Amino acid sequence: MELIDTHCHLTFEQLAWEIDEVVQRSIAAGVTGWITVGTDSQENRKAVELAERFENMYAAVGIHPHEAKDFTGETIDELKQLAANEKVVAIGETGLDFHYDFSNESDQKRAFAAQLKIAREVNLPVIIHCREAFADTMDVLEQFIRLEGKLRGVVFHCFSGTAEQAKTILDYGFYIYLTGVVTFKNAGEIRRAAEMVPTDRLMLETDCPYMSPEPMRKRKINEPALMIHTAQHVARLKDMDPTDFAEAVTATSRSFFGLG
Ligand SMILES: [Zn+2]
Ligand SMILES: [Zn+2]
Repeated sequence: MELIDTHCHLTFEQLAWEIDEVVQRSIAAGVTGWITVGTDSQENRKAVELAERFENMYAAVGIHPHEAKDFTGETIDELKQLAANEKVVAIGETGLDFHYDFSNESDQKRAFAAQLKIAREVNLPVIIHCREAFADTMDVLEQFIRLEGKLRGVVFHCFSGTAEQAKTILDYGFYIYLTGVVTFKNAGEIRRAAEMVPTDRLMLETDCPYMSPEPMRKRKINEPALMIHTAQHVARLKDMDPTDFAEAVTATSRSFFGLG
C-alpha cells in the first residue's frame, strides 16, 4: 500500500521535535508522501524548509481563516514568493471558519478571495478550510470563478458536511478530502458522503497533529502513519480492496497536485 498524506501540519511542535521518527514510522506504515500545510507566515516558511529536507515531501502555503485579520499586501508578496519554490504544490489552507471568531467575517472573506487570486496567478490548486460556512464559501468561490475564470483545482479539506453538500462540491468540479473523522462512531452523515464520492475526486489526509482516527482516537497526537486506519475504513465503506483503494486515491492526489 502506498498513500500520500495530502494535508498534515508537520511543522507544528507536537510533531516537529521528532520529525525524522515521524517520517520513518510513516514510511514503514505505507504512507510515503506528505503535503505539509502552512497556516500563517511563520508556518509557511517552516513548511517550505521542511519540504526541502525530505524526498516526497511537499508544502502548501496559505493564511488560515483564523489568521485572516493579519492578512496584508505584504502577505500577498510573501505567498507569491514562497509559491515560486518547486516544493510548493498548493495555496492553502484558506477559506472561512465561522465556528470561532478569531478573525471577523469580512477579514476572512477578503483574505480568502486574495488567496484565490494568488492561486490563479501562480497556477496552483487551492486547499479550502470550511467550517460552519458552507454557503458563504461556495459564494466566494462562485463569484471568483465568474469574475476571474477557472482555478486549477479546489479541494475541501476535512470534509464534515452532508452528502448533499458533497454532491454540490462535486457538481462544481471540486475535490473532497477525508480525515480520520470518517472513522468516528457519530460520523454517519460523513460516511454517506464518503460512499458517494468517486475515488477520482477523493483524497485522504490526517490533518495531524489533530484528529487521530479510530481505533487510535485516544492518541492525543495524530501522525501520518495512522492514516492507514482511515484508508482501510473508507475502502471498506466503498467495498473496495484496500490496496486498490489506496492506489486510486494516490493517483488522484498525484494528478491533482501535479506530483512526479
Ligand atoms: Zn483546517
Ligand atoms: Zn489543517
